[in-house]
Amino acid sequence: MPELPEVETVKRTLNMLVAGKTIEHVQVRLPRIIQKPDDIHLFEVLLQGQTIQTIERRGKFLRFVLDDYVMVSHLRMEGRYGLYQGDDPLELHTHVLFRFTDGTELRYKDVRQFGTMHLFPKGDELKQAPLHKLGLEPLDEAFTFEAFRERIANRSTKIKPLLLNQEYIVGIGNIYVDESLFLAGIHPEREASSLTRKELEALHEAIVRTLLDSVEVGGSSIKSYVNGQGEIGLFQHQLNIYGRQSEPCKKCGSEIYKTVVGGRGTHICPACQPLKRKRVRKKTVN
Ligand SMILES: [Zn+2]
Repeated sequence: MPELPEVETVKRTLNMLVAGKTIEHVQVRLPRIIQKPDDIHLFEVLLQGQTIQTIERRGKFLRFVLDDYVMVSHLRMEGRYGLYQGDDPLELHTHVLFRFTDGTELRYKDVRQFGTMHLFPKGDELKQAPLHKLGLEPLDEAFTFEAFRERIANRSTKIKPLLLNQEYIVGIGNIYVDESLFLAGIHPEREASSLTRKELEALHEAIVRTLLDSVEVGGSSIKSYVNGQGEIGLFQHQLNIYGRQSEPCKKCGSEIYKTVVGGRGTHICPACQPLKRKRVRKKTVN
């Protein structure tokens, strides 16, 4: 699944490709992609004549800001956008087509069909699902150490599932959580409330650095992710821990192992990320 750096890369590419274009016609070929409005025909009609002003990102969601509406799009596992000439042959798994007045066409392809699109009157999109409960944006100026500490410290939850919860911090998924915890030297099963101020500082810095480094090279190409132009990201070559089970740690040479934390495959260096003695605590359910 694309995470923040990949969606950020898609957003930047889409801005280069389609910002300023006016939609002439929309065709939905797979109704279940459209989550709102219920009436697919209405989705197609409302978008006619709208100009794409810009494309923004909130967490792992793309926000297509139009004249009067905002279209919120989530790529899920394998959703992709591509810009075509209107008469280019249709590729397999093309589910939504946005024809522009200049004859080009933005096409949404999705092999797994898990992607979603919601259309809202402008401004309403932040008050309703799926965007209304999203947490801090880790690349925003508002993501200060204090803001981070406030959300994370004192929680009696393992740190990894907490970081994956989009209601606390958005956009970092399994890859970047593993990378950030490794850089900060924190075991993924540590209880958040057991982290010292110094560890929290290291973690905050590691999250920002990991995401920025990845955005810089266009995200990671894990499985089938490609950006809006069909180019693949390069960050997978810089991964320190994700996907490197049984390989030596780049910092200390210990063998990286893979386990399951909170239901997710998790990569750990036993030496760099020790599981410190836990304090006695109440049982919590997540
Ligand atoms: Zn190590």
